[in-house]
Amino acid sequence: MPMNVNPVPTLNPRTNEIRTKTAQIVNNDILPNENELWSAWRPDGTRDTTRRERSRELRLEIQAKVKAAGLWAPHLPAEYGGCDLGFLDHAYMNEVLAYSLGGASLFGVQAPNSGNQKILLKYGTEEQKQKWLIPLTEGRMQSGFSMTEPDNAGSDPRSLQTTATRDGDDWLINGHKWFTSNGNDADFLIVMCRTEDPDAPGDRNSAMTQIIVPTDTPGLNRIRGVPVWGQESDHCEFIYDNVRVPRENQLGASGAGHQAAQDRLGAGRVYHCMNSVGQMWRAFDLMVDRVMTREVHGGLLEEKQFMHGFLADSYIDIQAARLMTIATAEKMNAEQDARTDISAIKVFVPNAYTRVVDRAIQVYGAKGVSNDLPLASMYQGARTLRIADGPDEVHKILIAKNILKRYHAGESWDFGN
Ligand SMILES: Cc1cc2nc3c(=O)[nH]c(=O)nc-3n(C[C@H](O)[C@H](O)[C@H](O)COP(=O)(O)OP(=O)(O)OC[C@H]3O[C@@H](n4cnc5c(N)ncnc54)[C@H](O)[C@@H]3O)c2cc1C
Repeated sequence: MPMNVNPVPTLNPRTNEIRTKTAQIVNNDILPNENELWSAWRPDGTRDTTRRERSRELRLEIQAKVKAAGLWAPHLPAEYGGCDLGFLDHAYMNEVLAYSLGGASLFGVQAPNSGNQKILLKYGTEEQKQKWLIPLTEGRMQSGFSMTEPDNAGSDPRSLQTTATRDGDDWLINGHKWFTSNGNDADFLIVMCRTEDPDAPGDRNSAMTQIIVPTDTPGLNRIRGVPVWGQESDHCEFIYDNVRVPRENQLGASGAGHQAAQDRLGAGRVYHCMNSVGQMWRAFDLMVDRVMTREVHGGLLEEKQFMHGFLADSYIDIQAARLMTIATAEKMNAEQDARTDISAIKVFVPNAYTRVVDRAIQVYGAKGVSNDLPLASMYQGARTLRIADGPDEVHKILIAKNILKRYHAGESWDFGN
């Protein structure tokens, strides 16, 4: 079923045009080819090189259309290969492109590359931008972001123990990371390193620095792709054993790593939530289609009250998730303090997404958990989002902290702003 995207009366013509053009590519080029676009495997599980090559060609064809439509890499300025949409336009575009499987990579805005591009843009020197950012945007390179460690709490990045120490004009990196996404294909990793003594007094937030490490650097050992949800994955485990890189590979000032991570995650969370809205929209369309066509016990599913509950609850979840995320994006666009709103959507949207997909799976029965539909992988993605980019509990703590801080200061919450 094509995605039903019409101009939104309250949006400006340019934003509506972006949504419409994105929907045309999703409906005409991606959805009809979804089975071909990502397939490199035969039904018996062996790799099919002909199919793989055809998939690659198809992806390049669609990416060329995206570029011709002026929609490539919406998060980046034109001088670095993007189409520079601005925060709100990009958010509105994401809900449309995410309706299709793999839409993000076909529009040049795929994590972790997109987050790395934003960090290179903000913290990189001109030389670093030429060397790493432009090839990344043009698709000539791949990258990963290497922060989380198996032995320390990823939800408290200040606990991370990977160190970078100065040795002449070089950094020498030692540590153990895992869940570095895209780790199989990455040409370079942006690595979060402790560059100060953890026991030294001072600001814990200024102890971290992000450093670019090419993946062919001696001492960088890829241990494995950590299997996830019962399948192989490219979320990789790495040992950094005396990895030596020149000092100019450092991103921004020494100690800027924590702030850079916050910058990356704040905007990224809003985009991820709009992606989740697009995927919920898809799950919803699939669910409605099924209840209208499936007969059970002498009648269509759509006649059953349980199903009415599923549809209504899903509609409410999607509307609430979408409007909360748009309100947050509007605040970010207006450069207002949106930290509480970001934490709120980071908790609410993945949970709403999980509920909607869960209902869609239930409606489809066995087919819902099969790979014939995108619902099973959506479900895994939705559940995973409740951990990645900061678990639910950490964001709830932040929300409560911000609320109490304001009330302790003698104010109350203004939900209108
Ligand atoms: C599919 C996937 C891809 C990922 N990709 C990347 C990547 O590319 N690069 C990267 O660096 N990392 C990546 N991660 C890692 C991710 O960012 C971390 O998993 C996340 O930050 C949580 O860290 P942790 O796993 O160490 O859990 P922990 O920090 O150990 O937390 C575990 C649990 O403890 C609870 N908890 C934590 N803090 C509190 C608290 N203050 N109060 C109460 N309860 C609390 C929460 O329930 C939490 O889920 C990825 C993770 C996944 C699943």
